[in-house]
Amino acid sequence: MAKHVLVTGGAGYIGSHACKALRAAGYVPVTYDSFVTGWRDAVKFGPLEEGDLADRARLDEVFARWQPVAVMHFAALSLVGESMKDPGKYWRANVLSSLTLIEAAVAAGCLDFVFSSTCATYGDQDGVVLDETTRQMPINAYGGSKRAIEDMLRDFGNSHGLRSVIFRYFNVAGGDPEAEVGEFHRPETHLIPLMLDAIDGRRPALTVFGSDYATPDGTCIRDYVHVSDLVDAHVLGLKWLEAGKPSEVFCLGTGKGFSVREVIAQSRAVTNRDVPILEGERRPGDAAVLVSGSTKAVSTLGWTPKRAELATMIADAWRWHQSGHYEK
Ligand code: UDP
Repeated sequence: MAKHVLVTGGAGYIGSHACKALRAAGYVPVTYDSFVTGWRDAVKFGPLEEGDLADRARLDEVFARWQPVAVMHFAALSLVGESMKDPGKYWRANVLSSLTLIEAAVAAGCLDFVFSSTCATYGDQDGVVLDETTRQMPINAYGGSKRAIEDMLRDFGNSHGLRSVIFRYFNVAGGDPEAEVGEFHRPETHLIPLMLDAIDGRRPALTVFGSDYATPDGTCIRDYVHVSDLVDAHVLGLKWLEAGKPSEVFCLGTGKGFSVREVIAQSRAVTNRDVPILEGERRPGDAAVLVSGSTKAVSTLGWTPKRAELATMIADAWRWHQSGHYEK
């Protein structure tokens, strides 16, 4: 019998790549998406159920129809800057919606849950190597809302037997090597797609947000992880739960940090084009350094990142960027 997995946010950047990986692993991904930030064109690998996560009746209907073996929960607002301007929007959209989803999953007896969390739950911890045991001290509402959902999953685990694998992502980048899906947000706020826009003239320039951080070149350092590697870890997390193993938290990064200026230099090398740059102010809510010091996903889940080089991530993003898909 087909194993259905309910993928919230399956029409989004990471969710659509997860659907592709799930299908390749023999599951049927059922996308649940409101299309507030998702793309209809990105739903290619399984059935679609349009709906809002705050709509409990609709969720109950979808759980009853597909009887999923697990939930993969990607749907969320995820912009640090926006979360600083409008925290209420983040607490409502992320926390209340997730509560409704978790309650619906428990009521339907669907007790395996894979959750998309973030290194933004750690905040700005000077010189600390981040791993699963690091104290979470978010400095923006995005990180705060994700930490709250992690707490919720633990409480529902203790009381209702929900088992969860929580993945704390570092900076997800790149795109499907076959360019069936890729990164596309509107408005776009992420470094690599904005830089590719500046390279091919869709935007006049890339603004560097702050050059006075306490880092070697003054710009923020991030740990970039390829979206295809990231979603492979999710399939392993799902199998972990299916094998009856306990709830776990895993950081997903490559353990290597790159400054904004290093990402720009790498993009020049990959595309063989210039990147027009403007020097701008710091963006509120940005931590100076976010790099994973964890190998737990590798040692425990058997995760083997295959596209861990920054140049590969940029090359895959560039291929997608230049494909006609981007215009849709
Ligand atoms: N960044 C930048 N200019 C931009 C967009 C991002 O300098 O137009 C910087 C940002 O301040 C951060 C890094 O690039 O240090 C990655 O930002 P992004 O929004 O891609 O991901 P985040 O770290 O917020 O998840």
